Amino acid sequence: MDNLIDGKAVAAKVRAEVAERTKKLHDETGILAGLAVIIVGEDPASQVYVANKHKACHEAGMHSLEIVMPAETTQDELHAQIDAVAADPAIHGMIVQMPLPDHLDTDAALNRIPFDKDADGLTADAMGRLMTLQPGPLPCTPAGCIELLKAYGVEMKGAHAVVVGRSEIVGKPQAHLLLKEDCTVTICHSRTKDLPGICSQADILVAAVGRPKMIGADCVKDGAVVIDVGINRLPEGLCGDVDFDAVQPKAKLITPVPGGVGPMTIAMLLKNTIEAAERSAGR
Ligand code: NDP
Repeated sequence: MDNLIDGKAVAAKVRAEVAERTKKLHDETGILAGLAVIIVGEDPASQVYVANKHKACHEAGMHSLEIVMPAETTQDELHAQIDAVAADPAIHGMIVQMPLPDHLDTDAALNRIPFDKDADGLTADAMGRLMTLQPGPLPCTPAGCIELLKAYGVEMKGAHAVVVGRSEIVGKPQAHLLLKEDCTVTICHSRTKDLPGICSQADILVAAVGRPKMIGADCVKDGAVVIDVGINRLPEGLCGDVDFDAVQPKAKLITPVPGGVGPMTIAMLLKNTIEAAERSAGR
């Protein structure tokens, strides 16, 4: 069935646009956009993500700085490092790679990042700006979902969008971004009654739950657009929160896992960074 949303292709287009803007900014102002990633400890998955971000920066022609701190780093040491990176004029976007070791306060570290260098768009400042419709960095994964919907010409104005999940990094900002696009938005979570009944009213259904294949055919209206944010590791490989085989025949468009939303996250991180660099140049 030809109803797949090709996240790799859309992400490649976003990254090519970022590379073009990076070159233009550098040619015209001498400013080279730079992204810094601070990683604490040796979580293997995080190391892979950080290596991918580093590679993506280089492909976009950006400056990339990777700072590795030992697992026993204290909160004060982490804050001092965040402050040092924030003060570096060669850096326009920065992130602290999650998860942090358990002894560290994630929210305190995150909110230490000044909003104008927040490449993940996850600080309280960035969230507040999203909710009050002020310009600022957008949370990467949910903004990537909107980019996919736009790339495939999905009509959002007046559509009923149902978001399953209300986390700070995906569900909540996703709902606000859909609202900004004039969707009528319903948010579901673990206490929602009759999840299939609500989900099956959706024109656009976004699943961000973290439960493998939880969204079945009973949750999907014929002709709905289904965006699966979930990344779950099963012995047989990666799968999403949507039961892809059951849902694909009913969907008008659907993202696969992998190859759907996943590739968009890094692309949007680069986009936030070039936008921050352009802002720093007064553009
Ligand atoms: P969280 O665990 O933070 O949030 C999960 C949400 O799902 C919560 O709001 C929870 O509700 C809700 N939920 C849990 N069980 C049910 C249920 N039975 N019925 C309805 N709602 C339920 O996860 P994240 O938002 O961080 O991530 C969600 C998924 O997206 C994960 O698979 C994650 O790996 C993936 N992800 C993918 C990214 C990408 O780049 N593609 C980036 C980030 C995340 P409640 O609030 O009531 O507990």
